[in-house]
Amino acid sequence: MKLRKNRMESVYDAIIVGGGPGGSCCALRLADKGKKVLLLEKATYPRDKTCGDAVSGKTVKSLKTLGLLEQVQAQPKGDVYGCAFSSTNMDYVEIPFKQDKAYAGAPGYCVRRYNLDNVLFSNAKKYSDTIEGFSVTELITENNFVVGVRGFNSATKKVEEYRGKVIIGADGANSIVAAKLGVGKNDPAHEIIALRAYYKGITGMKNNIELHFVDSILPGYFWIFPLEDGTANVGVGMVTDDIKKKGIDLRKAMISITKDHPLFKERFANSSIEGGEAAIKGWTLPVGSFHRKNHFNGALLIGDAASLIDPFTGEGIGNASFSGITAADVAAKAIDEGNVSEERLKEYDTALWKEIGPELGTSYNLQKWGRHKFLLNMIIKKASRSQKIREVISGMLANELPRGDLINPMFLLQVLMA
Ligand SMILES: Cc1cc2nc3c(=O)[nH]c(=O)nc-3n(C[C@H](O)[C@H](O)[C@H](O)COP(=O)(O)OP(=O)(O)OC[C@H]3O[C@@H](n4cnc5c(N)ncnc54)[C@H](O)[C@@H]3O)c2cc1C
Repeated sequence: MKLRKNRMESVYDAIIVGGGPGGSCCALRLADKGKKVLLLEKATYPRDKTCGDAVSGKTVKSLKTLGLLEQVQAQPKGDVYGCAFSSTNMDYVEIPFKQDKAYAGAPGYCVRRYNLDNVLFSNAKKYSDTIEGFSVTELITENNFVVGVRGFNSATKKVEEYRGKVIIGADGANSIVAAKLGVGKNDPAHEIIALRAYYKGITGMKNNIELHFVDSILPGYFWIFPLEDGTANVGVGMVTDDIKKKGIDLRKAMISITKDHPLFKERFANSSIEGGEAAIKGWTLPVGSFHRKNHFNGALLIGDAASLIDPFTGEGIGNASFSGITAADVAAKAIDEGNVSEERLKEYDTALWKEIGPELGTSYNLQKWGRHKFLLNMIIKKASRSQKIREVISGMLANELPRGDLINPMFLLQVLMA
């Protein structure tokens, strides 16, 4: 890959709006294919992004593909070897993740987004022209094709325009690119709101991702994810429609779980929040329980801008990075062929949804199924008592067995009989 020093082209091969995991991975892949990329980012790095900070197996795969895994592993992190669940009946189960024998590291990590995104963005910056502090506000269109962007450069204090053969919207949950393309409106039935804070001093941390189903925020969950030096990312998330229907104050619910809930009050008794309660931050998660249009004449959407977050687990970094790599592969070919029409770029949508569609569909079913408290409690209870059920779930989490089996009546029968 060629290093670049902001030479500024009159027309770029690709302009990427947003330098989060989706945008940075896309920029690196395009540069690897010899394309001239302009990466425009509203913030100045390093910057924070409200998140649970869990780096799943899918993200690890993208990091390996781009040769960035070692740099991420060198960051302060919590190693993750399994997942723990508790039910509203307070049954508790730990399910170890399958270990990839060819690979010595932990199967998953929790890395603060401040650090993770900085690794990705600093690498992307070496091989793309980059402007930080640049907020895109408009798309430039000609003859029904998107041909550039307009926005405010906070360094020059000017509105500036840049032109590219393909414009890639990687600008997150409130994507201006998606809005300008007419698909950006988040639907409360397909959107989660989540809050998180960094805690010190929680007891009983065990290198597990912890997902706890608690009555006050059902159907939703409370999480504790292990970070470096015994710190933890703690949060709650629920579908926006459910929050509205039930009139839940998520912030109050989260604080109350840590102070009053019988499973957690002792674990949090001597804990403190970095920055105090004012530092509890919330953000929106556009989820892939519906298929947002992502390809247009001269434009593509990736990551949260394409509404690709897992509707059950809330994971979005993996799909953001995977969609970024897939978009880059298709955009590079379309640029070489001189055809960036919506029809040509549909190959991106097909390849992306072929890979992630079945898993998003299952997760949407799991999200709906999680509304049945009886079922949820039954599975956690049976899993806490049966090694066999734990092994089946572990295989599903590792994608060795189809996750869809979790909602298969035969699996439920097997659980019932266990
Ligand atoms: C509370 C919470 C917990 C979560 N927990 C997890 C988790 O544990 N694991 C997981 O995998 N996922 C999690 N997610 C989801 C995950 O954070 C997102 O899916 C992921 O950040 C998507 O990456 P992205 O690159 O698409 O967007 P982002 O990371 O949002 O990056 C978008 C970038 O675009 C920039 N930008 C925005 N507008 C403009 C503009 N107009 N012009 C230029 N630049 C712009 C922003 O500054 C930002 O840097 C969580 C989300 C939330 C809210």
